[in-house]
Amino acid sequence: MATQKKPGRWRAQTLAVRGGQMRSPFQETAEGLFLTSGYAYENAEEAEARFKGKADGYQYSRFGNPTVSMFEARMAALEGAPVARATASGMAAVTATFLCALRSGDHVVASRAMFGACRYVVEEILPRFGIANTLVDGHDIAQWQRAVTPQTRMLFLETPANPTLEIVDIRAAAEIANRADARLVVDNAFATPALQQPLEFGAHIVVHSSTKYIDGQGRCLGGVILCDEAFLKDHLQIFLRNTGPSMSPFNAWVHLKSLETLDLRMRAHCDNAAKVADFLAGQPKVARVLYPLRSDHPQHQLARAQMSAGGGVVTFDVEGGKEAAFRFANALALIDISNNLGDTKSLITHPETTTHQRLSPEARAALGIGSGTLRLSVGLEDVADICEDLEQALKTV
Ligand SMILES: *Cc1c(COP(=O)(O)O)cnc(C)c1O
Repeated sequence: MATQKKPGRWRAQTLAVRGGQMRSPFQETAEGLFLTSGYAYENAEEAEARFKGKADGYQYSRFGNPTVSMFEARMAALEGAPVARATASGMAAVTATFLCALRSGDHVVASRAMFGACRYVVEEILPRFGIANTLVDGHDIAQWQRAVTPQTRMLFLETPANPTLEIVDIRAAAEIANRADARLVVDNAFATPALQQPLEFGAHIVVHSSTKYIDGQGRCLGGVILCDEAFLKDHLQIFLRNTGPSMSPFNAWVHLKSLETLDLRMRAHCDNAAKVADFLAGQPKVARVLYPLRSDHPQHQLARAQMSAGGGVVTFDVEGGKEAAFRFANALALIDISNNLGDTKSLITHPETTTHQRLSPEARAALGIGSGTLRLSVGLEDVADICEDLEQALKTV
């Protein structure tokens, strides 16, 4: 296997198409799909050398696989990270990031507004291993500072956050982490490296659910952890190797090819979402619209400083609570009811009864999730068709 030409100073879109590519002796133009669990050695001496780390090469696909390596290298190039490791899902990436480096007695500070399963890991799983947590309102930087203790080893946040699209100041959180000798982990699933590169603002680790916009077409699960060499060597590599949350080579191949169009797709998602947000804001039965770059978003200036565009998700409230929200969702003819997001197809979900149903009404209220709140992942259909569908369904509210 030969690594293709030196990346040199390639720009982001070139890295999205060519970053990390390795060619076999067949010189295939498209990336090879190496659907293999094992690798053969020329002789026993070579097997010994590879196991002892004295020779390069693959041993077993739980530890590494050429297709997965290409996806990791391309992701690292796009996020500006020294190294990346791919996992079976976004949750595998989040869980591995915590568990590989934390131990009993450590403390995590995390933003209250995070993906439901991330919150379950922080609040329910980590405490079983003696890892405590404090949840904060991520947009209020003073709360992060107050929550830090001498035991704090990690800060975790998502920006924009699901589903309220709250924006957290990555640079300010990174400074708090630095002073506490802790690491800041940013979940970049909503923005993707096409819109936001958290490492540039001082984050230490980036995690992804590549299931969302990186796949972009609702096919394969995947996750990615981006970090520096020291974190990989001291914590992550040995944890992944021995616990096995590995990404399938097939999924890596799909996501690798998806990265080639990530920038084009994200621009189109953002264009459509911005238009849908403006359309919804003009509808009398819509009580509230949240979209990061709209001037009525409470943190639109920070969003503008961190993101090159607003993303593909629009969150809004219909008048009339759950009953109205259900009637509206059921009346949609084009937009599908689905808790997934980041698909070419527009998808809508009612967070109160799906993604955030585990939380108490008080906890949901603290996040700004009401009975009439809906999260719309705006797809790549013609935006006029999306708006027409929303308009006809709003008539039923
Ligand atoms: C979906 C999602 C996850 C979890 O990813 P999976 O691939 O579903 O395991 C984590 N964080 C965010 C922000 C997500 O949207």
